[in-house]
Amino acid sequence: MRFAVHATVAGSRARAATLSTARDAIETPVFMPVGTRGTVRTQTLGQLGQLAQLGAPIVLANTYHLLVRPGIEVFERFGGLARWMGWPHSILTDSGGFQIFSLPGTTIDEAGAQLRGPGGEALVLSPERSIATQRAIGADIMMVLDHCIASTSSHAHAEAAMHRTHRWAQRSLAARGEPAAALFAIVQGACFPELRRISADVLTNLAGFDGYAIGGLAVGETRAQREDTTELVTALLPEDRPRYLMGVGMPIDLLEGVHRGIDMFDCILPTALAQQGTAFTSRGRIDLARGVHRLAEQALDPACTCDACTRTPRSYLHHLVKCQEPLGWQLLAFHNLTFYVRLMADIRAHIRAGTFLAFHAEQRALLDRADPDHPPGRRPRVKPRKPRSRGAFALHASPHGFVSLQHVPSGEIMHSVNDPDVEAARVYVEQSVILAHALGGPRPEPRTDPRTDLAHPIADFPRPIVVWDVGLGAGHNAMALLRAIDRAVDHAADHAADHAADHALGHAPIELVSFERDLDAFRLALDHVEHFPHLRHRAPHVVAHRGSYRRDRFGWSVREGDFLATFATEPPPDVIFYDPFSAKVDAAMWSLAAFTRLFAHLAAPVELFTYTSSTAIRSAMLVAGFHVARGVASGPKPETTIALTRPISPHALLGHDWLDRRRRSAARFPADVPLDQHPDLEQVIHGHAQFGQIRSSRSPDR
Ligand SMILES: [Zn+2]
Repeated sequence: MRFAVHATVAGSRARAATLSTARDAIETPVFMPVGTRGTVRTQTLGQLGQLAQLGAPIVLANTYHLLVRPGIEVFERFGGLARWMGWPHSILTDSGGFQIFSLPGTTIDEAGAQLRGPGGEALVLSPERSIATQRAIGADIMMVLDHCIASTSSHAHAEAAMHRTHRWAQRSLAARGEPAAALFAIVQGACFPELRRISADVLTNLAGFDGYAIGGLAVGETRAQREDTTELVTALLPEDRPRYLMGVGMPIDLLEGVHRGIDMFDCILPTALAQQGTAFTSRGRIDLARGVHRLAEQALDPACTCDACTRTPRSYLHHLVKCQEPLGWQLLAFHNLTFYVRLMADIRAHIRAGTFLAFHAEQRALLDRADPDHPPGRRPRVKPRKPRSRGAFALHASPHGFVSLQHVPSGEIMHSVNDPDVEAARVYVEQSVILAHALGGPRPEPRTDPRTDLAHPIADFPRPIVVWDVGLGAGHNAMALLRAIDRAVDHAADHAADHAADHALGHAPIELVSFERDLDAFRLALDHVEHFPHLRHRAPHVVAHRGSYRRDRFGWSVREGDFLATFATEPPPDVIFYDPFSAKVDAAMWSLAAFTRLFAHLAAPVELFTYTSSTAIRSAMLVAGFHVARGVASGPKPETTIALTRPISPHALLGHDWLDRRRRSAARFPADVPLDQHPDLEQVIHGHAQFGQIRSSRSPDR
């Protein structure tokens, strides 16, 4: 491989160069379409050929996925992936480091990673095996196997993973054999500048690497953190080798990456967002699923020459997206890839012409905006950089110093008085006996309570703990759980580092299922991570884009729609975060009918946590069959509520004092129970097992 820089820019690190592989002279900066399984999803060879002509004669393939299926023998038989898939140009292979990080059931030690294939079969991926596979695939550019970690990892964990990445880089160099293909090292170190400096220093002092990648970004950090880390690392890398920013990003990230000295990019976003109906255009980002496009006659992007833009009106593309027709994904994916590849061609032309800084200034505003002709929601008074509303939701600044989301039609503000992160951790995660057990932390002391028949609710879980997050909202409760899991992983990893031993990631497998009627709230918060710092993590971004996120012993998926209409088809949970809108806005969620159906679906023992302490709602839970306990105070609320399918120590069940207070309550019946059934309900509540033997001679009602 040869790399020759032709043009640089004063006042910027941007540069134009030619990267020559055996097959192609690739002009950089370049965007490489992602072909994980030997195909750029939905794209034909003819379309890939057009993209190659426009300046992308290289695609990315993934070692782990191709090793699992079809297997190395196929590439040996056919003489490599390029010939097998009919692609006459270059291929870069990702080493599998990211899959080690993201796939469930993985354990990592110094030798490599033990993964499970899609059929559950064991699979070892070591630096040597990764290189052997990449050679069989016939990559023009290979990557070293690296140890990826969560962006929220502790310094100690990030440092240990970085040093292992360096040792693996040396083994990859040794395994490379005769240097037919180029080999790139990967700089790690999370968002810790001193670790990034060490990593760049160690790797550039190892002889034999043809280029350097920056790994561990595009995993939920802020754009500023990403840009700062990129800027820091490129300054430490040699001028005469290509620099590759892995997995990044949006068009604006490409522009800013080039400005900071990056030569190569890859990202799944052009094809992944196309599947959801998002198109990048010369006038900003357009969501074709929106109803404003139903009768739109204009071209998707008049500046583009692809089929989607020259042959059909936006109206037709809107229709395809609404019907989830594969052709819609197909057309938009090609359009988006064309947009990315043309953007890189424009960038190269401006670098060569000496006009890059002016182009950068002009484009940074254009590339980052959403559909200017149809701004979503209400038009804001002062035009902000990002829309402050989405669908039915808008940002709301709390006088208590945090930003929450408001449901505009009802006026209801999520977490209007409590810091939502504090409530999420205290009410939903830290109270749970089952989660404490699963996370391997200290268990609450069992309490002696004659009404509690179950001192140790969980003997052993042979299957994943299932957590339902009902009412995802801005993702506070889900992220509180994920933070607790990350802490458990860090704790285990730090201990493993002490003993230089292989680590078992210290928690039981956990499956989180979030239910949400309208994901606009979540997406709005993700667009404003500066106000929602709990979302600075890779997982919520992946969940928003793909509907699910998976890594070792943790899976998270989202169910969009009406919870009451869909929950019965889901495997029963162990823990429920019950956090929908209030009964004023969503009465059905708090009805006796809802709790009765829910109770019937559950298999004991289950803990349900919710923010309310409403007497009527607690009554509905009791009548449905739950045992009801007091939850911790939260902000101005002196109590919250825990519903249990059977008593679990140490949760404090409501007692006779509550029954006495209940009698004095004017609103003690669920709203969906007719007046004439109130006496029956009263009988059921007073006869509930959790209140033991109670005199019911005194008729409590009227
Ligand atoms: Zn187009």
